[in-house]
Amino acid sequence: MPLFNQRHQQALTLRRQQGLYRQLQCVDISSLRLNFASNDYLGLAQDSEIITAWQQGLAKYGAGSSASPLVTGFQPPHADLELQLTEWLGYQRALLFNSGFSANQAVLFTLLQAQDQLFQDKLNHASLIEAGMLSPAKMKRFAHNDMAALQQQFLSITPEVDTASLVVTEGVFSMDGDCAPLASLREITTQHKSWLMVDDAHGCGVLGEAGQGSCHLAGIKADILIITFGKAFGIQGAAVLCSQDTAEYLVQFARHYIYSTAMPPAQAVALSRACSLIQTQTWRREKLQALSASLDHYLDKSIGLIPTITPIKPIIIGDSSQTMTIAAQLQQRGIKVGAIRPPTVAPNSARLRITLTANHNKSDIRQLAIALNEVTDAR
Ligand SMILES: *Cc1c(COP(=O)(O)O)cnc(C)c1O
Repeated sequence: MPLFNQRHQQALTLRRQQGLYRQLQCVDISSLRLNFASNDYLGLAQDSEIITAWQQGLAKYGAGSSASPLVTGFQPPHADLELQLTEWLGYQRALLFNSGFSANQAVLFTLLQAQDQLFQDKLNHASLIEAGMLSPAKMKRFAHNDMAALQQQFLSITPEVDTASLVVTEGVFSMDGDCAPLASLREITTQHKSWLMVDDAHGCGVLGEAGQGSCHLAGIKADILIITFGKAFGIQGAAVLCSQDTAEYLVQFARHYIYSTAMPPAQAVALSRACSLIQTQTWRREKLQALSASLDHYLDKSIGLIPTITPIKPIIIGDSSQTMTIAAQLQQRGIKVGAIRPPTVAPNSARLRITLTANHNKSDIRQLAIALNEVTDAR
């Protein structure tokens, strides 16, 4: 038997035995009674204004961009969106990418050289950790949100004269819903003449008075800010916010940017509309806060919901199969919640990941809480 077949069978068998087998399910979202597993925090994925904007974009610009940005893929809707993002978030430049995953890889691969030092929070997203491991730089991971540990790591290295250092964190951590200590991170990075990069996939749109995200809320500016459009924007894609020089550097050298077809212009039109709605419709953020308070109110305290200021509400169960069982019991009641297991999270920290969206109402939250109180009581 060819080695690949053997290897795949063994790995799949092991996964099953560990209770970690991932099953791809085709989900008709519209058939879910209550969905607490989406990252559509502001409820924009089904927004009629955004759908109309996308349709108008299609009628005007066609279905696809038909080339990479440096050829003919960069068109007026892309330029308009980039400008809008720079004004909203306070940067000289924005560069669009097709996904957050590729934006993170592009930045880390392009910026870092072999003599450089990279520091990452242990709980950073897989796209960041993987990019760091594959980059030529030396990487250290510091304990989650532990500023003393980061300081210690800075002191433990002996930088060469040409060593550039970069600290990378998420603004809001995707599986825990907690926030990075950005003010301290800014202080420490400045002290060590290091750059700070913040991946704000889960903070952008959700935090800050006009949805500018984690950095704005913390009153700091990151050297590089990553935002993604598959979460609060309700669409798809990402942007890197940075200085003029850094943007030009990426345009010259970032292969994920240069050799990939630009997003459809109609998508950029839809994203621009989403960006406007995020800034003006503050009720969406206010509603999330109210829903969050309702969940706290209705849920039994013994369940151990981790309090967060974000719409991400984890309940750590620990055991993977127990987590799956609880999620299945909820699903039988028409309630979908995320069930997250290792290796996405640390061993023995399997959890339910409940996410709120501005489309939920108080009665939805009450139904979720009643169901959770019941199924976790029977544990
Ligand atoms: C979702 C996510 C990404 C990846 O973004 P995509 O656009 O979905 O590829 C990157 N970083 C973080 C923190 C994320 O949560």
